[in-house]
Amino acid sequence: MEDIMRVKMELIEAGKWLYSKGLVSATDGNLSVRIDDRIVVTRSGVNKGKLSPEDFVIVGLDGKVLDGTGKPSSEIRMHLTVYAMRKDVKAVIHAHPPILTALTLAGIPFDATWLPEVWVTIGPVPTAPYATPSTQEVPQAIEPFVKDHNAILLERHGSLTYSSTLEKAYFALEKLEHAAYVIMLATIIRGETPPGLTKEQLKKLNVAFGKTT
Ligand SMILES: [Zn+2]
Repeated sequence: MEDIMRVKMELIEAGKWLYSKGLVSATDGNLSVRIDDRIVVTRSGVNKGKLSPEDFVIVGLDGKVLDGTGKPSSEIRMHLTVYAMRKDVKAVIHAHPPILTALTLAGIPFDATWLPEVWVTIGPVPTAPYATPSTQEVPQAIEPFVKDHNAILLERHGSLTYSSTLEKAYFALEKLEHAAYVIMLATIIRGETPPGLTKEQLKKLNVAFGKTT
């Protein structure tokens, strides 16, 4: 029980970050943390900036509600898919970051080599094809990317970041949206999307940070 309350407090804090940074609006988004074989997830229809301990539902790895009132988030299937495929993942955040989402609408793939720190800390960020929100289409769309990536953009919808801690999953999201903002500014100033690092620059970066891919 102590663990669950601690996790809820962490999720409440992360919800405040998400909302105050404009990474979600109204009741958008959902967050979860895994404790062994239980998942603490935000319930459906709540604002992430003012979550309280009653705003969470505990579900099993099969999605069955074990505790809490209200329905689990409508995107719970997406969280369950990530937890099933990645044993190392302990936290999942789905948000609606405006600039990253706008990139998917503009049909511009996110190039992780635009900025060295994004390449080093997060790596490639694929865009999953459009899927009807809250349906089984969403986990199906992300499935091919989950194993080899730590962040996925959802076409016309938002983002999915996941990691070994909630803070890391949140920081990945914040970093990606910040990078998208920089790229948007560069695109406006330059008049076209800037190129990524050259092969040579990437090679040197990989050597400097011991990256193999
Ligand atoms: Zn959404």
